[in-house]
Amino acid sequence: MIENNKILEIKDLRVSYHTYAGEVKAVRGVSFELKKGEALAIVGESGCGKSVTAKAIMGLIKGPQGEIKADSKILYNGNNILNYNKKQWQEYKGGECAIIFQDALTALNPTMRVGKQIMENLTVHKHMNRKTAEKEAIEMLRKVGIPEPEKRAKQYPHQFSGGMRQRVMIAIAFACDPKILICDEPTTALDVTIQGQILDIIKKLQKEHETTVIMITHDLGVVANIAQKIAVMYSGIIVEQGSSRDIFYHPRHPYMWALIESVPRLNSNNKQVLASIPGIPPDLLNPPTGCPFSTRCNYCMQICKEKMPDCSEFENGHFAYCWLHHPLAPKIDMPDYKGDL
Ligand code: SF4
Repeated sequence: MIENNKILEIKDLRVSYHTYAGEVKAVRGVSFELKKGEALAIVGESGCGKSVTAKAIMGLIKGPQGEIKADSKILYNGNNILNYNKKQWQEYKGGECAIIFQDALTALNPTMRVGKQIMENLTVHKHMNRKTAEKEAIEMLRKVGIPEPEKRAKQYPHQFSGGMRQRVMIAIAFACDPKILICDEPTTALDVTIQGQILDIIKKLQKEHETTVIMITHDLGVVANIAQKIAVMYSGIIVEQGSSRDIFYHPRHPYMWALIESVPRLNSNNKQVLASIPGIPPDLLNPPTGCPFSTRCNYCMQICKEKMPDCSEFENGHFAYCWLHHPLAPKIDMPDYKGDL
């Protein structure tokens, strides 16, 4: 029996890439856990390590360049997948854990009919015969809202629009009823109306299948739509984590304040000045010893440059790494955002 229905536990995940310039420490000690059916959004700028975290969970970090450090643990139903043998990996990838990428055109096989691409997953992971798999593939296309699925199943990816291709990716991902679904910026390349439709399909299927979802995104609108929990990543570290409500309405890390200030709000009467975050994130070839946000933070103190902040815990599992919460830090007004995002 898994404690508290936990399906996934990431413990001190560290991932590096070995390049000619040196070791890039892309993920530097990430930990979180998810229960069955929960949705977590990992947010942050490009290069913060969110996609690398997703790739590690999906078993897509390849040596010799990519390296998951020895003490890292990715526990799926209590078993460390990093110790899986070849057969266990085959069952896990696609069968237990599926991924939807941003660029469906690259992810799909251009030379294979889309129906066949769904069928392939069903025959490999669910051991269906050809006829049953064909029927199921058409049913999956219908479920993701593709009109005339019998006809469309015989077509190739280039005959589909961007939004329709993303629906095909969702059909492939859900065909095997995965327990974990990773969505890596699934709507970034789509226009706004299609984005909403794609998120609605993911949410509907997630509910039906009780799938645990990890949504990787830099778009706070996407997060608000789907996730119950949010992890805010910066420079390979989770700097704040909590329920969506706490992170949106009572954020406790200056990086999250800056992210929220950069999003237009509904009650702004067109007078809101959208803030940008000056500067660039630290070089992960040589990460700073202090707070990684110190070079861009309006509240930076001397200690921030010298020492990584301790973890400060608030209510309901909400925590942040920031020296402002130390009892000896100067008191500042923490912003609270009231239902206006
Ligand atoms: Fe800013 Fe210091 Fe907090 Fe880092 S620790 S976010 S530099 S106030």
